[in-house]
Amino acid sequence: MSKTRLQIIPLGGLGEIGKNMTVFRYGDEIIVIDAGMAFPDETMPGIDIVIPDFSYLIENRDKVKAILITHGHEDHIGSLSYLLRDVKAPVYATRLTCGLIEGKLKEAKVNDADLHVVKSGDEFKAGSFKFGFFHVCHSIPDSCGIYLRTPVGTIVHTGDFKFDHSPVDGEQTDMYKLAELGHRGVLALCADSTNAQNPGYTPSEAVVAKSLMSSYADAKGRIILATFASNVSRIQMAVDAALAFKRKVCVFGRSMVNVVGIAREMGYLKAPEGTFIEPEELNRYRDDRICILTTGSQGEPMAGLSRMADGSHRQV
Ligand SMILES: [Zn+2]
Repeated sequence: MSKTRLQIIPLGGLGEIGKNMTVFRYGDEIIVIDAGMAFPDETMPGIDIVIPDFSYLIENRDKVKAILITHGHEDHIGSLSYLLRDVKAPVYATRLTCGLIEGKLKEAKVNDADLHVVKSGDEFKAGSFKFGFFHVCHSIPDSCGIYLRTPVGTIVHTGDFKFDHSPVDGEQTDMYKLAELGHRGVLALCADSTNAQNPGYTPSEAVVAKSLMSSYADAKGRIILATFASNVSRIQMAVDAALAFKRKVCVFGRSMVNVVGIAREMGYLKAPEGTFIEPEELNRYRDDRICILTTGSQGEPMAGLSRMADGSHRQV
């Protein structure tokens, strides 16, 4: 008698930073968690983005029951528009994550996606899998972990998370749900392990907010701050600090302009009317009244920060 086994197949994100994607297969049914991208390194000249090798999913496209997304960072949603060209399956994600995905799909001209907006606490069924979402703290609002109930046991996939008792958006990791899942029994835990080898405790995001405030207090001229475009919580902190020091905020970089636009429209990035100015308005303000947000925190040569630094940026 052959016994059906559960297979966990990582297609990206293990032993590397970026392009997260994990496949869960039971018999002829597949659930995918996350469809991310990675940024190219210095050995990949001419490459814009790196995506996982989907060939296994394309070969098995009829078996894919659902694609679940933990949160809206590029390394978790960045390859979805490529995957959906070949694999038609319903996508489940929270509201902000869906908003960011919609922006990317529009850009990639993928018009037939089947997107489902979920809330933390929701549970769904797909074939012989049941799955649900629970809130976790991360540097973007609406981040979730996912549990998968399979015929052989429950899998808990944390997504990116931390235990932060003073998160930027006030929403703490749902430890009650984790405790309940643990109490009922978990077959395997797939946990975010970035920096897990480092002993100690990751400080709260509130610590970052405090050090931002003191840097802003010391700044005499323009402030130029770089972060990942999808790091909405960081962007919120930078905006809050700018407001505290009566600085206008100007956003550069296509991806950051997109994310800030979507997050503001959906109410996840909060700032009073008149906080943001357009690049062509920069000259109307004194240097010490300006805060510029841009991409390129990893030193990507084509990103805004590098061009501002070497004087080749068109507007700054
Ligand atoms: Zn993340």
